[in-house]
Amino acid sequence: MEFKTFFFNALRTCCYLAYDQTGHCIIIDPGCFGPTEEQRLAGYIRNNNLTPLYIVNTHCHFDHLMGLDFIRKTYNIPLRMHPFELGNLERAANYARLFGFNIIQPRSDYTALSDGEVLTFGHSELKVIHTPGHSPGSVCLYGSRDAVLFTGDLLFAGSVGRTDLPGGDYDQLMESLSGKIGVLPPETRIYPGHGPSSTLAGEFAVNPYLQHLV
Ligand SMILES: [Zn+2]
Ligand SMILES: [Zn+2]
Repeated sequence: MEFKTFFFNALRTCCYLAYDQTGHCIIIDPGCFGPTEEQRLAGYIRNNNLTPLYIVNTHCHFDHLMGLDFIRKTYNIPLRMHPFELGNLERAANYARLFGFNIIQPRSDYTALSDGEVLTFGHSELKVIHTPGHSPGSVCLYGSRDAVLFTGDLLFAGSVGRTDLPGGDYDQLMESLSGKIGVLPPETRIYPGHGPSSTLAGEFAVNPYLQHLV
């Protein structure tokens, strides 16, 4: 599996394109905002002859879906997300406005992700792990063969996601980290929703939020 990282919008949200030699790809957290960022994403897809199959949102905070409407219109592909994120999806434009962004309210139809489900594209696989805490339907995507984990806003290099937004729950976040993420191989490389990549071993060694879990 290969991937490309984009940092989009004023919140520097990571959008990932995951693909392999078949050219089939998925778009994780389409946070592109405005025509310039939209064209950066579309240009990469075009220049690399990629075929987007579906969108996966790790969760539905507005900064992770500012480009959702554009992506759906351009590629006519479905949105996969956990059903517990529907409230966040339906409030996305209102929420964005509170933070000073004007976005088109995306359509709210989607195909549900379930915990343990294995997503496929080309010859690649990513397993869905339901990891509530930052938001009720937050998920991580785990590729065991490639030892990669897309963590959304659950876990960052050196920090964890905030839990003060509606539906956030600190105890639940810690439970997700200890019960579902801490059990994965330490060499797993993490790709968060914001900021740089890291490894689970590195985070369990130095991330201050994880020290009492070790
Ligand atoms: Zn978030
Ligand atoms: Zn975010």
